[in-house]
Amino acid sequence: MKRNILALQSEMDMIFELSRNGRSGYQVPPTSDQLPEFEIPQELRRNAAPRLPEVSENTTVRHYVNLSTRNHHIDKDFYPLGSCTMKYNPKVNDEMSALPGFAGLNPWQTGATAQGAMQLMYELSDALLEVTGMDDITLQPAAGAQGEFAALLMFRAYHQKNGNPRKRIIIPDSAHGTNPASIILAGYAVTQLPSDSNGLMDTEALKRALDEDVAGLMITNPNTLGLFESNISKIIDLVHEAGGLVYMDGANLNALMGISRPGDMGFDACHMNLHKTFSTPHGGGGPGSGPVAIKEKLTRFLPVPVLTKTKAEFAWDWDRPDSIGSVHSFYGNFGMHVRALAYIKSMGGDGLRAISENAIINANYLRKKLSPAYQVFVDKPCMHEVVLSGNLQKQKGVRTTDIAKRLLDFGIHPPTVYFPLIVPECLMIEPTESESRETLDEFVEVMMQIDREASESPDLLKQAPYTTPVRRLDEAGAARNLNIRFYDDIR
Ligand SMILES: *Cc1c(COP(=O)(O)O)cnc(C)c1O
Repeated sequence: MKRNILALQSEMDMIFELSRNGRSGYQVPPTSDQLPEFEIPQELRRNAAPRLPEVSENTTVRHYVNLSTRNHHIDKDFYPLGSCTMKYNPKVNDEMSALPGFAGLNPWQTGATAQGAMQLMYELSDALLEVTGMDDITLQPAAGAQGEFAALLMFRAYHQKNGNPRKRIIIPDSAHGTNPASIILAGYAVTQLPSDSNGLMDTEALKRALDEDVAGLMITNPNTLGLFESNISKIIDLVHEAGGLVYMDGANLNALMGISRPGDMGFDACHMNLHKTFSTPHGGGGPGSGPVAIKEKLTRFLPVPVLTKTKAEFAWDWDRPDSIGSVHSFYGNFGMHVRALAYIKSMGGDGLRAISENAIINANYLRKKLSPAYQVFVDKPCMHEVVLSGNLQKQKGVRTTDIAKRLLDFGIHPPTVYFPLIVPECLMIEPTESESRETLDEFVEVMMQIDREASESPDLLKQAPYTTPVRRLDEAGAARNLNIRFYDDIR
């Protein structure tokens, strides 16, 4: 992505300003002679020095550099992991979130001493409402899944308030696994509907499933096949007419930003993943942030505390009798809020739209280039990702797993495989907005070579990878018989 450096400079200045001493409430740490007298109780003190490895600085640095090259990451090579991929994560946003005025904040600080941080959260909220076309928002949830859960609790509170508790939530069979999990956690039953032959929600099946027990519908748009639900207005009307609410799983908003908005489509709630679309690198388990944007009819149920703005100051409102309560300690993962606002401000409205356009163009480029060798599940224009099937390669005796493992030998991270579940031998590829045409061409070349290898020497693929520090792992075994040896290793 090209960015306007001057615009970037002034927006970053604004964020610097918010982080500055005092204004953000950052307290200069006390020096040791200012600390109160404090003695660690005798029984809590060590008797002997800790057993730490004694190694030179060079050895330590080399250890970590070597480790970092043994795993795959976005700084090393292409990472087309569909849906959950690393999208565009400019490094400068990490620097912004590490500014001492932000990184040094303590969650126990009073609102009066953290006005800069609260202003940042307020401005981020405004920006995300603009992107989604919604009325209100909570930044609290710590993941997409937790955002789904929080929103479903709000749906529940809404129906209960209306004296009409309902029992079921509908999802399509292409739904992300977190959707049914959140539904069950929120106390509802799951009704799963088959997709139609175009990979979209089947409106006739939806009509049949709707009754007065349906609390709502959860749907991903574009869906996990990378397809825009072209009947979305009709779908939403049908659910509303039956008295239900409609939720959009907006984890991957990089296909829609600046082009269309969930709020305008008629959705009542949607979450977005700041760690996918809004510039926090993820993987390895954290951090996450899944703000939920809602329509006004759900505002009274928002998690507490709610960030409010008066003429004089920003404040936390805990006095919300209909709130579903808190879903996270304190206020969510603040460092991610900083990255997201820095990202939005530096890209600007046009930049966000360009991100979506590039994401869509890149995915369709791969669809066209790969279709001579690989079956495209629904060969129609796609959005940010393209879903292939390894069916043709299976006829030559290799499975999608083998293709994925072979990609590692070329230094490329495999796409998401075997998801969505409705696609046999599935390969779900998301090139993202930030990859160049050269990188995409290299990937295509590698995929074509792997297809030739499938014809000529299928056994080669079945043994891959050959170049990685470890070969094929017993993944199920590793998950079931967890062996954590951290402390042993140190000794
Ligand atoms: C990633 C993703 C989620 C879940 O988000 P987490 O932060 O991993 O909980 C939900 N739905 C879709 C479509 C996703 O891609």
